[in-house]
Amino acid sequence: MDMQTSFLDRLFDSGLLIETGVDGLYGRSGTFEDVIAAFERLIDRFGGADGAEAIRFPPGMNRAYFEKSGYMKSFPQLAGTVHSFCGCELDHVSLIKAMDEGQDWTGEQKATDIVLTPAACYPLYPTIAKRGRLKQKGGLYDLQSYCFRHEPSNDPARQQLFRMREYVCMGTQQDVTDFRQLWMDRGVKMMAEVELPVEIDVANDPFFGRAGKMMVNNQRDQNLKFELLIPITSVAKPTACMSFNYHQDSFGVKWGLELHDGAVAHTACVGFGLERIALALFHHHGLDPKLWPATVRKALWG
Ligand code: ATP
Ligand code: ZN
Repeated sequence: MDMQTSFLDRLFDSGLLIETGVDGLYGRSGTFEDVIAAFERLIDRFGGADGAEAIRFPPGMNRAYFEKSGYMKSFPQLAGTVHSFCGCELDHVSLIKAMDEGQDWTGEQKATDIVLTPAACYPLYPTIAKRGRLKQKGGLYDLQSYCFRHEPSNDPARQQLFRMREYVCMGTQQDVTDFRQLWMDRGVKMMAEVELPVEIDVANDPFFGRAGKMMVNNQRDQNLKFELLIPITSVAKPTACMSFNYHQDSFGVKWGLELHDGAVAHTACVGFGLERIALALFHHHGLDPKLWPATVRKALWG
């Protein structure tokens, strides 16, 4: 049995994750959620004084915004759309018949105005652009959302529905690159407090297809993305538990985000993979948080 499957089985056996029959789609126990809540309080302890505006979107976003974001150009393989039955009574009869006969019943399902949120910050940019120019000090936002990615796997650290906590900064190039560096330093300090081994490395997103290869090279050459990695199911290939992205002015141009003086805003976001961090804690300190080192418990629960 590989390390991913055995860790997943141990998580199921302990009840921390609950099987649903679909790889990457799990229930969570109260204990699992308590660890995530405690870690989010640690995030607040580090970032709370910055005065970010907290916004919570549901895990679905406006399809028109999603289309404009260009997500389907870069990551069509990961996207999830929400479809519903929009037919008449006759269509309903065929649907039920197809279901009863074990046939495909989804053909008549039509795309709704909602798609599943692929990253917590996606709904933010159009929302802020609609408000008009940013204030003199720019913009700083605190987000958290369940996100969907179609990447079924038996690695418990690669789920299809998982939570991302993000801070997003909008400002000048200097503002947003300082913000990103600040959070890289904070990320390392936070993980040291909860006694997790980390490394930071330059990274790239899984851009689709042959055209995507160029985007991968560009992202890496320009150091646009860094990840904080922690070994969970593999020491050789540690898992990205935080990511630090500098978008240059690409979202500013796309969404019309303007600084107070009308210049195009640069943006950056830092994301915490909350399930991955909880799994890293369970992997390194054991499946029962009551037995974790007192120092780690103190950092999380005070
Ligand atoms: P990976 O390289 O492992 O696929 P990613 O680069 O696609 O991750 P981001 O798009 O940067 O990840 O997402 C922000 C954060 O969300 C990641 O740093 C990670 O902690 C978390 N995350 C991403 N994909 C998943 C997933 N499938 N399951 C759980 N957490 C995830
Ligand atoms: Zn983001």
